Amino acid sequence: MSEQWIFLNGSYVKKEDAVISVYDHGFLYGDGVFEGIRSYSGNVFKLHEHLVRLYESAKSIMLEIPYTQEEMTQIIVETLRRNELKDGYIRLVVSRGVGDLGLDPANCREASVIVIAEPLRIYPKELYDTGIEIATVATRRNRSDVLNPMIKSLNYLNNILVKMEANLAGVPEALMLNDQGYVAEGSADNIFIVKDGKLLTPPGHVGALVGITRNTIIEIAREKGYEVEEAMFTRHEVYTADEVFLTGTAAEVIAVVKVDGRVIGEGKPGQVTNDLLAAFREQTVKDGVKVYDEPVHVS
Ligand code: PMP
Repeated sequence: MSEQWIFLNGSYVKKEDAVISVYDHGFLYGDGVFEGIRSYSGNVFKLHEHLVRLYESAKSIMLEIPYTQEEMTQIIVETLRRNELKDGYIRLVVSRGVGDLGLDPANCREASVIVIAEPLRIYPKELYDTGIEIATVATRRNRSDVLNPMIKSLNYLNNILVKMEANLAGVPEALMLNDQGYVAEGSADNIFIVKDGKLLTPPGHVGALVGITRNTIIEIAREKGYEVEEAMFTRHEVYTADEVFLTGTAAEVIAVVKVDGRVIGEGKPGQVTNDLLAAFREQTVKDGVKVYDEPVHVS
């Protein structure tokens, strides 16, 4: 990729010129919403679902996005085209925009809209072969009556604190509980457990972002005949599960083989996890918005 182009408030600008005001409330207060999306071989996977979540997050915080979902689709497609990307990671950010130092959003006239598309940094393949270890952290998921985790807001400090704890514990992802001690999610991934062929994942109101990958896995699993339930569970059910896996746009589906020192199942990625990962990867090039209708030369 020679020159990187970023969509910033109505124009496509070079990376060096893609700067926002220090008075933007996204910067000052984390006031805004965002999405992380992936393009697979020129197919923006589940773009519609990501946009629905973005607009619902925005609605929840009373943030008006100055584009329709159709316009936003075109902006994302055009950003990928200008960067000649087929396999990429797309970051879509909508902040409250430029205001003054007061926190009142009434003083922000217009939302800032940013679309960044970059080549993908994929997780090492060996992590999928071996599975990963996770550990419970002390920081709890923020309560849904404080800042609802179902809003994908720019305020990610809860998740960042959790990630820092994971780093200190020497594990690539954390297990986060809600304020009542029920399993919520990871710092940036949803969690599933498998017991006797049945899948469980916490519902959003327990303290989880309703992940697009999570929803896709629920769909795929049901199509394959697995029973799936959105239910609350504790660490005990995690420790004693046959399989545990995480889902997320970046991670896709990744097996967890150790939790807080307890070996899960046989200590290697299980058959259900592998089955779902394979089916998920098959779907990634199908279900989404095609960026390149006509053949283009992208290396
Ligand atoms: N939970 C959190 C807190 C996240 O940030 C993410 C990543 N967006 C996920 C779960 C997974 O969601 P998705 O599958 O939509 O990427």
